[in-house]
Amino acid sequence: MTDDTPTTTTQTPDECPHCGKQPILCICEEIVALDNRVSLLILQHPQEQDKTLGSARLAVHMLSNAIFKVGLSWSSLAKALGRPADPKNWAILHLGSIQASDFPDGRDIAVFDAKGVAVADQTTALNHIEGVVIFDGTWSQAKTLWWRNAWVLKARRIALRPSTPSRYGNLRKEPRKEGLSSIEAAGMVLSRLETDPRYEEALGEAFAVMLSRFKAAKKAGLVSK
Ligand SMILES: [Zn+2]
Repeated sequence: MTDDTPTTTTQTPDECPHCGKQPILCICEEIVALDNRVSLLILQHPQEQDKTLGSARLAVHMLSNAIFKVGLSWSSLAKALGRPADPKNWAILHLGSIQASDFPDGRDIAVFDAKGVAVADQTTALNHIEGVVIFDGTWSQAKTLWWRNAWVLKARRIALRPSTPSRYGNLRKEPRKEGLSSIEAAGMVLSRLETDPRYEEALGEAFAVMLSRFKAAKKAGLVSK
């Protein structure tokens, strides 16, 4: 069973319509907007909605070609996107574990088959990707999204091998093995696919500002987390 009805996020009047955060945690006024060529689709599990520490909506707000949806299942990629799209030309960010040694040629991004083996011609495979899907939620929520959306099996799988750990530190755990937040993963993927470091820099910087805002608010006793 699929559910194509758009799920709206529950929002209280003082939450930012862009990032969903309370005013003290919102950094939308400070962000730099980027025009990305490779599309981004972030699908968030309905039970995720971590408005305090979540980064998915901020990432999407920073990118001209990005869509954020909350839900459990969509009958096709086109339904999730709201426009025609062929999943064969899209990639899904891999959830499982891929060893550093499985990445070919010292790459930090690579396309893998369903068995976790890197495909032969990485350059062609990577150049072919029109858009990337990222599942946002805990590990089990992301797995649920994977199995509830059969069309992801038609998409390419890409995995990342970041050289530095997530800026989250021990604030929270991310669903993917590589441990990046959704905004960090989005920045790294777009920078590699478009050979443009700006995404990784700008999204990473916004995330750092978001976290420092959170830590200051927590110290002041203004957020409970
Ligand atoms: Zn905001």
